[in-house]
Amino acid sequence: MKTKIITIDENNINEELMMQAGDILRQGGLVAFPTETVYGLGGDGLNENSSAKIYEAKGRPSDNPLIVHIADMEALPGIVKEIPEEAYLLAEKYWPGPLTMIFYKSDAVPYATTGGLDTVAVRMPSHKTARALIRAAGGYVAAPSANRSGRPSPTVAKYVIEDLDGRVDMIIDGGEVNIGLESTIIDLTDGQPVILRPGYITEEMLKSVVGQVDMDKTLLDANAKEAPKAPGMKYRHYAPKGSLTVVEGAEGAVTDYINRQIAVAQSEGKKTGVIATDETKGGYVGDVIKSVGSRNDEEAIARQLFRILREFDDSDVQVMFAESFDSPGIGQAIMNRLLKAAGHHVIRV
Ligand code: AMP
Ligand code: MG
Repeated sequence: MKTKIITIDENNINEELMMQAGDILRQGGLVAFPTETVYGLGGDGLNENSSAKIYEAKGRPSDNPLIVHIADMEALPGIVKEIPEEAYLLAEKYWPGPLTMIFYKSDAVPYATTGGLDTVAVRMPSHKTARALIRAAGGYVAAPSANRSGRPSPTVAKYVIEDLDGRVDMIIDGGEVNIGLESTIIDLTDGQPVILRPGYITEEMLKSVVGQVDMDKTLLDANAKEAPKAPGMKYRHYAPKGSLTVVEGAEGAVTDYINRQIAVAQSEGKKTGVIATDETKGGYVGDVIKSVGSRNDEEAIARQLFRILREFDDSDVQVMFAESFDSPGIGQAIMNRLLKAAGHHVIRV
């Protein structure tokens, strides 16, 4: 398949190109597009053939459900059975934005889109190009992250092209995304709201709107034995090519431990790497040291993490270590993605 690659500026949307992209989706094709979280791989969410194509293009297991993206609140009743009060409150505060809510699905949503579940994940993105595309496509765009399964979610179009060129009809380049981590997912189908995936919208932000919120315990516990409630969270996403260990502990102890492990790996002839921070990067002895940013700016760390993981892959590092990020805010989401990249391999020093 020849992939058409176009550029759209969200502040000056080319209507003709947008119509072309919308037509592709209406006809069952696939369009990768920017959102404020990460790039998405879009298909018509109400067309089961489109959803099947998304799984195929990503190489994604078909029990891993897709998020349906809408542009307007009026679109929500069309795809869900009921809208709990909490959903209105959360939508009022955080939509459009990086929050996905799980509802019981209506018959309009094919099981191909929900991975066979009776529930559907819905998000209203704030990115103007994403919103225009959803409207041009008829209102419902199923879109997982626009990476091949097992690779970090793309934060710039270059990585979408690397993973999906030749596998989708169109890729819309909209520059670098804002947030860099996938949306927060909250399940509203089970009484008490439960966070299934941490993200930019933090536990505290959700609690401030709906009171008590639980966190799926498997998300931050390195030793959790139960399966996570969001089917996709059980897969080892973002797996770097080299082995990755997250090291927790006081700053100096972490640096010392990682440097000792690096010396061992280097003596075995292995290429080593460290995911460090601006504050600590000068203290490491590995072959490739990359800072994800300053600990004082967690938003910048979130934005850069996936790019850094991809860059490590390109540098053929075999043994990697990362510092840990466990602050109560967006650090939870950063840590969750790192733990997944590390296959939950964590050492406390
Ligand atoms: P991605 O689109 O790559 O951000 O992945 C979508 C995430 O949403 C995966 O982790 C899915 O397991 C999760 N998800 C989608 N639909 C549902 C649902 N109905 N119930 C629980 N999790 C869901
Ligand atoms: Mg993904």
